[in-house]
Amino acid sequence: MKINIPESDQERIVIVGGGFAGLTLARELKKQDYQVVLIDKNNYHQFQPLFYQVAMAGLEPSSIVFPFRKAFQGEKNIFIRVTEVERVDTAKKQLHTPLGLCNYDYLVLAIGADTNFFGNEEIARKALPMKSVSEALSLRNRILTDFEIALSVTDYERRQQLIDIVIVGGGPTGVEVAGALAEMKRYVLPKDYPQLPTDEIDIHLVEGADRLLLGMSDEAAGKAQEFLEGLDVKVRLNTMVTGFDGEVATLSDGSQIPAHKLIWAAGVTGNKMPGLPQEALAKGNRLAVDRFNRVAGTERIFAIGDIAYMEEEDYPKGHPQVAQAAMQHAKNLGKNFKRLAKGTSMQPFAYRDLGSMATIGRNRAVADLPGFKFQGAFAWLIWLFVHLFQILGVKNKVFIFINWVWNYLTYDQSLRLIIRPKEGPIKAAKD
Ligand SMILES: Cc1cc2nc3c(=O)[nH]c(=O)nc-3n(C[C@H](O)[C@H](O)[C@H](O)COP(=O)(O)OP(=O)(O)OC[C@H]3O[C@@H](n4cnc5c(N)ncnc54)[C@H](O)[C@@H]3O)c2cc1C
Repeated sequence: MKINIPESDQERIVIVGGGFAGLTLARELKKQDYQVVLIDKNNYHQFQPLFYQVAMAGLEPSSIVFPFRKAFQGEKNIFIRVTEVERVDTAKKQLHTPLGLCNYDYLVLAIGADTNFFGNEEIARKALPMKSVSEALSLRNRILTDFEIALSVTDYERRQQLIDIVIVGGGPTGVEVAGALAEMKRYVLPKDYPQLPTDEIDIHLVEGADRLLLGMSDEAAGKAQEFLEGLDVKVRLNTMVTGFDGEVATLSDGSQIPAHKLIWAAGVTGNKMPGLPQEALAKGNRLAVDRFNRVAGTERIFAIGDIAYMEEEDYPKGHPQVAQAAMQHAKNLGKNFKRLAKGTSMQPFAYRDLGSMATIGRNRAVADLPGFKFQGAFAWLIWLFVHLFQILGVKNKVFIFINWVWNYLTYDQSLRLIIRPKEGPIKAAKD
């Protein structure tokens, strides 16, 4: 059975994945002489850089997602199908999905990456990742639920276990989560939970390397650590988390941290797409592509964004897995499709690094922009505006802006709701 998509004389480009890469490409191809089919397992685009604010109850999930159908209302050459691509049949130029088969003339894989637990299954089962809006929401629920339970626990050790948090990975995500939690501990929790010893909440940030923010400058890393320690975050460098059973985290130096929550922000691995030849697979489970984003060993198959592994002279280990690289791949490929339609030759991709930033909390951020580096309140303002500018949809921008202003003025977020699937009442803790 085939997915029901109208037959057309136009060549069909199927884009799998509507993240930064896939969505940007589909927008580039609006009104072009191609039939474009955008397939995603969700019916919305997710703005991953702000997941942590959902997890920390600073933003509603609906502010950072955007429905695909709204993005392409009235676009006659764009067809959206919400389903998961299970595998590709390169010989028949077909995708297998639970909705049926989908033929392609060109296939673009923009399937992104997922959390990498480096093969540790126990950690994978028990840790809390943050790679989707639903995971961010369940993290919010877990944090708030544990505070509620801790209120009725009298045993000191058990209560500490419920309120302490371990964050693994000192990249931008780990740093941002640690900063947001530290601010919650300082400004919000004492008001919400006056009966809890909130000053005793320990927030641990564990990083395997000898510094934070590995992709950024030494100045940014040093300042981020200073900001975090100023907010009472316990930063542990040169240390790995080797185990977590849901109650205690074990570290590579043999020490242990009793904590009920371990947030895993320690790396990503490419999402799998069965059916591709062995030579297409590259480091980090990414897909090896040439400078035109063509997947090695295949015909008419491209990969863009986090899943694409492209070596350039200045990037011998591939491009960083960030939104900018994903959008730049997509824009170049979009232009190349337009060139193909006109019968002209494709242009190779060249990555332009626009810099990186991380925020640690109000008035505290670090920014490495081309030509200059700065930290503190100005970097924080730039961070706010860059993210506001990137978020999709005017309503989302307005809601986020209002939330941020409100949070800034009141030192409070008003979204601390535990909303979850029907699970029954919060159970009493083992005392
Ligand atoms: C918590 C967090 C914070 C981040 N912060 C920043 C930041 O501040 N700045 C920055 O530049 N980058 C940041 N990143 C990285 C950035 O989000 C990624 O580089 C970017 O999302 C990559 O875009 P993409 O389109 O390649 O993949 P994604 O955005 O991951 O999109 C992949 C899409 O493919 C879909 N999909 C996957 N498999 C299938 C399948 N089999 N069938 C159908 N659909 C499928 C998914 O549903 C998803 O919509 C962050 C990432 C995370 C997780």
